[in-house]
Amino acid sequence: MSATPTLNDEIDRLIAAGALFVGNHSGGKDSQAMLVRLLERVPAAQMIVVHASLGEMEWPGAMELARDQAAAAGLPFIVAHATKSLLEMVERRFESRPEVPSWPSASTRQCTSDLKRGPIQREVRRYAKANGYKVIVNCLGLRAQESPGRAKRAPFRRNERDSNSVNTWYEWLPIHDLSAPEVFSIIEQAGQKPHYAYAEGNDRLSCVFCIMANKRDLKNGRKLRPELFDKYVAMEKLTGYTMHMSRIPLVDLVA
Ligand code: SF4
Repeated sequence: MSATPTLNDEIDRLIAAGALFVGNHSGGKDSQAMLVRLLERVPAAQMIVVHASLGEMEWPGAMELARDQAAAAGLPFIVAHATKSLLEMVERRFESRPEVPSWPSASTRQCTSDLKRGPIQREVRRYAKANGYKVIVNCLGLRAQESPGRAKRAPFRRNERDSNSVNTWYEWLPIHDLSAPEVFSIIEQAGQKPHYAYAEGNDRLSCVFCIMANKRDLKNGRKLRPELFDKYVAMEKLTGYTMHMSRIPLVDLVA
């Protein structure tokens, strides 16, 4: 009877099979540490880095950090653009269905699927087709300690939903078992610096104002992006719904 393949066996098999490894990079610390780890394991010739641009909603410097890390490793870097911004998504939803909450919620994260996952998939499929890849290993810097939902995610799986007759997709979470201090340590040991928002006290990066952000991150966002904060507050007023999953208005959350 043959032994069940370990995660290491699976990764070795996929490397040997010539799979394309995609480093999803938000510009945040977890993506950064994940890319360091990936480069220790996967040949650079089989890797690309993809960043989903959130336009003015994201932290300035996030895309540049991802781009520069990819360039330093000699990896192709792709920016995936959505057809709308988060605020446009909210406004359109309000215009079409004012009777339901206009903002994405933590349980139905339309923002993640429409602004990140969808555009990244589109770009990866395009790259794979142009470069003859059939097997794609989508690598995400998600960690178990971030939330109960993320703790339940398998560190490695075949992604049946995104696989089709052309491409087979896998999902790999290379730093799923790491803590935040371990992530910062990997970045430091690699001789790199994390995004400046962490030094300002931010816990997470990505959208400056995230529906799931803690108060400190929201306060930092207001301090460093006051003009963007005003746009979010104006959208809360227009729609009559609150952005944050706590249902507390932004102005009260940062008070
Ligand atoms: S960072 Fe938050 S608000 Fe922005 S897309 Fe992700 S879940 Fe949505």
